[in-house]
Amino acid sequence: MEKENLRPTWLEIDLPSVAANVALLKARLAPATGLMAVVKANAYGHGAVEVSQTALAAGATSLGVALPEEGATLRRAGIGAPILVLGPASPDQAAVVSAASLTQTVYSHASLEAMSKEGVAGGRPVAIQVKVDTGMGRLGVRPDQALAFLRRVAHDPGVRLEGVFTHLARADEPDPAPTRRQLAILERLRRETARAGIPVPVWHAANSAAAWRFPESHLDLVRVGIAVYGLDPFPGFSGDLRPALTWKTKIAFLKEVEAGTPLSYGALYHTPDRARIATLPVGYADGYARSLTNTGLVLVGGRRVPVVGRVCMDQLLVDVTAVRDVREGDEAVLLGNQGDERITASEMAGWRGTVNYEVVCAISSRVPRTYRKR
Ligand SMILES: *Cc1c(COP(=O)(O)O)cnc(C)c1O
Repeated sequence: MEKENLRPTWLEIDLPSVAANVALLKARLAPATGLMAVVKANAYGHGAVEVSQTALAAGATSLGVALPEEGATLRRAGIGAPILVLGPASPDQAAVVSAASLTQTVYSHASLEAMSKEGVAGGRPVAIQVKVDTGMGRLGVRPDQALAFLRRVAHDPGVRLEGVFTHLARADEPDPAPTRRQLAILERLRRETARAGIPVPVWHAANSAAAWRFPESHLDLVRVGIAVYGLDPFPGFSGDLRPALTWKTKIAFLKEVEAGTPLSYGALYHTPDRARIATLPVGYADGYARSLTNTGLVLVGGRRVPVVGRVCMDQLLVDVTAVRDVREGDEAVLLGNQGDERITASEMAGWRGTVNYEVVCAISSRVPRTYRKR
């Protein structure tokens, strides 16, 4: 692993774990079902280029991004696999879609027109997929207007229809009914489209939670993000996914303080007894949330130690009194394993009142990523 010239706060991304997660997910699919690795937001903070290459080598058949620019970045890295832009594109972004040979999601007449114009002007139809809103309420053509929309798409010389999809809003919840209702709406449209003789190469609906819990949602391909990174796709998940990300730092400064010593901004913490306090060179500018003030836990010497006082922009403090033989320069683990202890993104999300997705996406670009390749 390349570790030269790094600040002593970094991520270790275990690419074999990404590959193992893709293989585990693929094993749950029928052989002909595709697997789109969703690598938006820099692969949920893990590094889009490295994760994409690894996922494709492990059997992913396409990639999903949120923005045209994210797709263009992958193309510049030499990735040739199909890339679907899952989010909206403005008319100005149509040129990026076309130049990078991406597939753009369209969900309205205006979004279709923007891509069609680009395709006609460039003399090469823009690849599109149509998103149908079956219950997410975010982007998508209404189901009762979808057939007419697909007819129009089929006759538009500026675009080439590659697929139709929907997004599930509640596949991570225990009650399967809302997911089944959404799938039934898509299935009805699929039958109507077939009857109307409109050729649609692929239909898809499943995110990670649905791919795991609802085999009937797999259709022609599944779009998996969070599970590729080995993070729980729904509460109470128990499977063999392997978290790929470890977030580490090193103790910058260590001191012994008297009882009653105020620590950090606002003196929100006073040591109850004599204590040994470690300063870690990581803060909210790195994505370690300020809301973990007096709340977070960090692994030092294989033990969980508490964050004491305010989390600052670039530093935070932990009480390491309970750790034997602790020294400046010792590793501290913010997320991941150390010895027999482990802090998961889901656990940290619980402390912060959010989800594991946000915990990893929030780790800022200031934190260097290192990659274990084998
Ligand atoms: C982000 C996203 C996914 C992946 O969701 P996970 O829960 O991370 O598997 C799939 N489809 C769409 C449209 C998305 O925006």
